[in-house]
Amino acid sequence: MAPVLMIDPGHGGKDAGGGTNQYWQEKDLNLQISLYQYNRYKELGIPIGMTRMKDETLTPEERTRRVKASGAKYCHSNHINAGGGDGAEVIHSIYSDGKMAKMIGEELKKAGQNFRSAYTRTLPTNSQRDYYFMIRDTGKVETNIIEYGFADSSGDDIQQLRSNWRDFAEAVVKAFCQFAGYPYRSPSSTTQRIESVKKPENNTSGESATGNGSAGRLLILPADAETWRVYPLGVSPVKGNEKGFLKPSKFRGLEYTIEGSTQTHVYIIETANFGRVQIYAAPSTGAKIVNGKDRGSEKSGYAGLRAESKVNNLRFYSRPSWSDKYVVNTIDKGIGFPEIVDKVKVGKSYQYKVKNSKGDIYYLTANPAFVRIV
Ligand SMILES: [Zn+2]
Repeated sequence: MAPVLMIDPGHGGKDAGGGTNQYWQEKDLNLQISLYQYNRYKELGIPIGMTRMKDETLTPEERTRRVKASGAKYCHSNHINAGGGDGAEVIHSIYSDGKMAKMIGEELKKAGQNFRSAYTRTLPTNSQRDYYFMIRDTGKVETNIIEYGFADSSGDDIQQLRSNWRDFAEAVVKAFCQFAGYPYRSPSSTTQRIESVKKPENNTSGESATGNGSAGRLLILPADAETWRVYPLGVSPVKGNEKGFLKPSKFRGLEYTIEGSTQTHVYIIETANFGRVQIYAAPSTGAKIVNGKDRGSEKSGYAGLRAESKVNNLRFYSRPSWSDKYVVNTIDKGIGFPEIVDKVKVGKSYQYKVKNSKGDIYYLTANPAFVRIV
């Protein structure tokens, strides 16, 4: 189905964008806001597209081509401003009445951001043509350039954008729904549905996948580790002898069943890329060894129990995947899903297939560093 709305995360790849400061690059914050909105629109059932889903360099021609070719009627082009002001702005076409731009401004105000203005700008040489290419060259698509705040703010924008970017992104979703006539539901309704369900009555066993006393131990490599050496069996596990590198941070941490040990703090694990290898994982490295269950019988240890996040901003997905594309939303520490249905292998690690109280199925990491079973 053709999207109704295209979201354009401004800049990307080689072009970091002018709204960059010591805390963020504009291209990244634009993408973060856009992906949030993308997932929210999906959740609301509004056909949606993006000009880029990742850190990608796009020429103005390619960017506007993607918008025009999408068949969408509307476009949000998301940006962070620079120039030392404070507050949000929305720019619309001289051929638009600016109604959507004003509604976006109203909602941004309600979300706590000050709104400077909704305005148009034309080429100095031609007052019949819009100044910004995203507005001028996207054909019949009604494009708004949304500037969420200033990276070099003279006021509170930097702090606001760091802590409240989600609220501002959501404000635009709300304004668009009102403008285009789509029923709007706030994101908290999902979270509340998750949260409002009590733990199952039958969890008195206190069992969890990381519980004690069961056969098999798990090695957990922390999410903040960029790379981790692994060594072939039968060699000394020292630098230079490595077979390759695992990438824990890429997977928000990795988890392996420990199959044996060749010396103190050196374990044998089975990896997808390198097969059976040795790995050095002393406590000083940040790795954790936890008691687990045999993979085969583990299912009974978690099925029907609640999966609860141990961290803030934990992503959950609409299908078994680690791709940004399928991120539905995030949950904060202490929030969880009332029922684990299954544990599935996704790439090199595992996800829990979970149900919320409405019966919707989602996926989230099964890494015990991030999720506890209660
Ligand atoms: Zn920009």
